[in-house]
Amino acid sequence: MSRKPRLRSKFVFITGGVVSSLGKGITISSLGILLQARGLKVNVIKLDPYLNVDAGTMNPYQHGEVYVTEDGAETDLDLGHYERFLDITTSRMSNVTTGQIYDSIIRRERSGDYLGDTVQVIPHVTDEIKKRITELAKSEKGTDVTLVEVGGTVGDIESLPFLEAIRQFALAVGRRNSLFVHVTLLPWVQTAGELKTKPTQHSVMRLREIGIQPDYLICRNQTGLVRGTREKLALFCNVEQDDVIDARDADSIYQVPLDFEAQGLGQSVVDKLGIKGRSVDLGRWRELVERIEAPEGELEIAVCGKYVELTEAYKSISEALYHAGFDARRRVRIRWIDSEKVHAENVARRLEGCAGLLIPGGFGDRGIEGKIEAARHARESGLPFFGICLGMQVMVIEFARNVCNLRNANSGEFARRLKHPVIDLMTDQRGVRIKGGTMRLGAWPCVVARDTRAFRAYKKEVISERHRHRYEVNNRYREQLEAEGLALCGQSPDGQLVEMVELKEHPWYLGCQFHPELKSRLMKAHPLFREFVKAAMKHEEAKAGSRE
Ligand code: GLN
Repeated sequence: MSRKPRLRSKFVFITGGVVSSLGKGITISSLGILLQARGLKVNVIKLDPYLNVDAGTMNPYQHGEVYVTEDGAETDLDLGHYERFLDITTSRMSNVTTGQIYDSIIRRERSGDYLGDTVQVIPHVTDEIKKRITELAKSEKGTDVTLVEVGGTVGDIESLPFLEAIRQFALAVGRRNSLFVHVTLLPWVQTAGELKTKPTQHSVMRLREIGIQPDYLICRNQTGLVRGTREKLALFCNVEQDDVIDARDADSIYQVPLDFEAQGLGQSVVDKLGIKGRSVDLGRWRELVERIEAPEGELEIAVCGKYVELTEAYKSISEALYHAGFDARRRVRIRWIDSEKVHAENVARRLEGCAGLLIPGGFGDRGIEGKIEAARHARESGLPFFGICLGMQVMVIEFARNVCNLRNANSGEFARRLKHPVIDLMTDQRGVRIKGGTMRLGAWPCVVARDTRAFRAYKKEVISERHRHRYEVNNRYREQLEAEGLALCGQSPDGQLVEMVELKEHPWYLGCQFHPELKSRLMKAHPLFREFVKAAMKHEEAKAGSRE
């Protein structure tokens, strides 16, 4: 790419140093908020150095939740932060991995596209990375700033081609059109009684060896930066003092944009990028933070799943619950319940005091019987219940077993040669052997039946939600389920797939095959989560009333 790419968008590249898990996603989203508050249109791309083609095949224990985009890509959970914070819709193009880059290069090489050239990291891999960034920047008309996150930590072997690519990219678009932000950690050393800058100095040194001079340092720390620390960082890292940003641990992630703004980051970034004449309006954001900080009460919701030791695996679920809580002016607290530890004798105790129960998505049979017990308890005791994907399948299995008297009803995912496979593999999934990207993925329409709870939540007949599943309600059992009172309140437009079920004779007992949590936004709670939280509030009030 020797020609200067003609791009309208400007670019901010964000790298991470010292350790992983520094909250780069939150940093980027917060910076995005400051740019949006100036009327700018932003877009985000995440570059992941790992060799997997996408996050779809990765264990949630290692990598947290798999976030699914509208167009059905299985991506990194940071895309969820971007969508929620910035109220944007990402796509397949927003998450690039080393796996994808090599995959397309090797395919091209096999087709002879390189015309006998030796295919190398520089320029072929770096060109492919730059091409992906360019494509994303051009994909949304009117994008003013593209935020580019480089996953991993500076110094990782895998990150090198990406860092080299963004260095070249910045050079090509020019300094006025690009900036580098480095997110780093200042560890607190108790015996010295101070925050240490050395790891950051080293990390910046590595960056500079590659040819990248950061414009900003975002310094994660526990105590707040004193002047001396700021001066030292500025001097050793070759950054202006004002551009050393204090990112002290915040009480809530929503506070971060305001902390950055107070340090002048927003204005400084637009100035450096040569974007002129922008007034700032953070009014809506401030209102939101005030609302979050002053709830009118609390609400405890149980989430029963198998990945509860790593709650990042349920990131969108917890965020969607919080959003619904903000809407209702309640602070939602989540009681994580390990489904493997739930059984008939202890289920009531485990759920005691919770105003609602949610069973999220998942794969495999571990902990499934505990989930079935939890669903039964919620159904029988009138506890508001929300089943999502696998959670809905659990609802159907429980209902089939205990209400329709179909003994040993189960899902084809968990047992072979079942007498009653009330949940079964979708027809078009039969014979699918390849794992990555082969489920029913992304946005699909669903028709909502009138006069149901689902309809009262959505207030419309045709909705679109994101999916990620291989199994479905077995149509052979529709009649029996319905006859016993389970309403099939949402279906695919052709009537072939059950998308939502609910129980009329229950305060709130609803399940959906799709993942509504993926579309919940900070300022726009998802209708199903909103209604679930409302039902939970009612449940709590009724309980309090009966105690009085
Ligand atoms: N394992 C189930 C299926 O494939 C549910 C998937 C999910 O919860 N995302 O259908």
